[in-house]
Amino acid sequence: MALLPAPSLAQVGARIVVLGGGFGGAACARALHRADPRLAVTLVEANPSFTACPFSNSVIAGLRDIAVQRFGYEAIRGEGIAVAQDQATAVDPQARRLTLRGGSVLDYDRLVMAPGIAIRWDALPGYDEAAAASMPHAWQAGDQTLLLRRQLEAMPDGGTVVISAPANPFRCPPGPYERASLIAHYLKSSKPRSKLILLDAKDSFSKQRLFQDGWQQLYPELIEWVSLSNGGKVTSVDAKTRTFVTDFATYKADVGNVIPPQRAGRIAEIAGAADTTGWCPIDPITFESRLQPNIHVIGDAAIAGAMPKSAFSANAQAKVCALAVTAMLRGETPSAPKLINTCYSLVAPDYGISIAGVYHPVNGQLADVEGAGGVSPIDAPSDFRALEATYAEAWFRTITAESFA
Ligand SMILES: Cc1cc2nc3c(=O)[nH]c(=O)nc-3n(C[C@H](O)[C@H](O)[C@H](O)COP(=O)(O)OP(=O)(O)OC[C@H]3O[C@@H](n4cnc5c(N)ncnc54)[C@H](O)[C@@H]3O)c2cc1C
Repeated sequence: MALLPAPSLAQVGARIVVLGGGFGGAACARALHRADPRLAVTLVEANPSFTACPFSNSVIAGLRDIAVQRFGYEAIRGEGIAVAQDQATAVDPQARRLTLRGGSVLDYDRLVMAPGIAIRWDALPGYDEAAAASMPHAWQAGDQTLLLRRQLEAMPDGGTVVISAPANPFRCPPGPYERASLIAHYLKSSKPRSKLILLDAKDSFSKQRLFQDGWQQLYPELIEWVSLSNGGKVTSVDAKTRTFVTDFATYKADVGNVIPPQRAGRIAEIAGAADTTGWCPIDPITFESRLQPNIHVIGDAAIAGAMPKSAFSANAQAKVCALAVTAMLRGETPSAPKLINTCYSLVAPDYGISIAGVYHPVNGQLADVEGAGGVSPIDAPSDFRALEATYAEAWFRTITAESFA
C-alpha cells in the first residue's frame, strides 16, 4: 500500500462544473461522479426540466405526447451531484470562474461545456426570433415543437407544407428528412390532398437512399425534395406571408418550417471557446478546447470531425471526456478513445432506418474508422423496418435513462 501514490489534491477536492444539462452535460456529470465520487461536480442548467429533441418529430406528426419528452434532474441530484438551476452568463477562463444570471459565481478546476446549439438569427434574411413565432424552427424542442404541431392541425386539407434544411454542419443531419417523412405520414392519413416541399441547401444528405426509397414506397407524389443544384437553397423568408425565396423561385407555404443555420450555444462564444465558424475546436482525445485551457467542450457545440451532431454522439463524448478529465486530474495521459454513433430515423411510425459509425482520433481530428459502421440494407423487408422502429424507441429509453433516470 505504501507504494501506491497518494491521490493528488486536485483529484480529491477538484471542482468540476458541467455547463448544460442536456444529453452531453447530464451524461458527463454522471460519468464524472461515478468515475470518482470525491470530485465536487456541479451541473449548471438554465431550465428546470429538459425537453428531448429525438422523437420530437413524432410529436409534430401527432404520434406522441410531448410529456414523454420531458425529463427532470431529481435523479441526478439524488446521486449527490449538485444541480444549479440558472443560466450561465459569463466565463472567465483565466480566473476559472463561471457567473450565473442569479449573481452566484462558481469556481472550477475544469469546466465541461455542453450548451448545445444556438440559432444564427443573423444568417437568413427575414428570419429572426419574431419570425419564428409564425414559421417555427422546432429545432430546440418545447414550445416550438408544439407550435408546429398546432399549425399542421389547423392547416386545411390541400395545403402546402414547406420545410427548409440548412447547409452542413447542423444538429441532427437526418432530422429534416425524418421530419418530412413523419409530417407526410400525418398528411397522408389526415389531409391527403396536401403537399410537402423540402427545400435543401445541400445536394446530398444522411441516409439519402433509404429515405428516398421509403418516400417512393409510402409517399409518392406527396414529398418533393428540391436539392441545392435544383434551386433548393433558401436565401430569404417573409414570415408575414409565409414565403420562402430561393435564387430560382418563391414558395408560398400554409405551414412553413425553417430549419435555420446554427452555431454553438452562445455561452461557448462568451467563453472564447468558439472559433470563426461558430463551433468549438477540441482535442479529440480529451475534448479540451483548443482555444481555452481547462475548458472541455462536448456535444453539438464541439467540432468533432466526422462525428455527427447527435444525442448519441454527445453521450459517447460525455463518457470519454469524463474519463479524460479524471485521468488528467490524476496526472495521467488519457488514452486515445474509440467512439460510436448510431442514428435511427423513422420514415413512418413502423418504418425505421439507421446509420452507425465508429470514430477515432487521426491527425488531431475525429475520423471514421475505415470499414466500421454502415447503414440499414436498402432492400430490407417491412418486418425489418418495423424492427428498426422498435430499436429506435428502445434506444431513446436507454439514452434518456442513462442521462436522467
Ligand atoms: C428534430 C430532432 C430530432 C433529433 N433526433 C435525434 C435522434 O434520433 N438521435 C440522436 O442521437 N440525436 C437526435 N437529435 C439531436 C440531439 O437532440 C442533439 O444532438 C443533442 O441534444 C445534443 O446534446 P447536447 O448536450 O450537445 O445539447 P442539448 O441536448 O441541447 O443540451 C444543451 C443544454 O444546455 C443548456 N444550456 C445552454 N446554454 C446554457 C447556459 N448559458 N446556462 C445554462 N444552461 C445552458 C440548455 O438549456 C440545454 O438543456 C435530434 C435533434 C432534432 C432537432
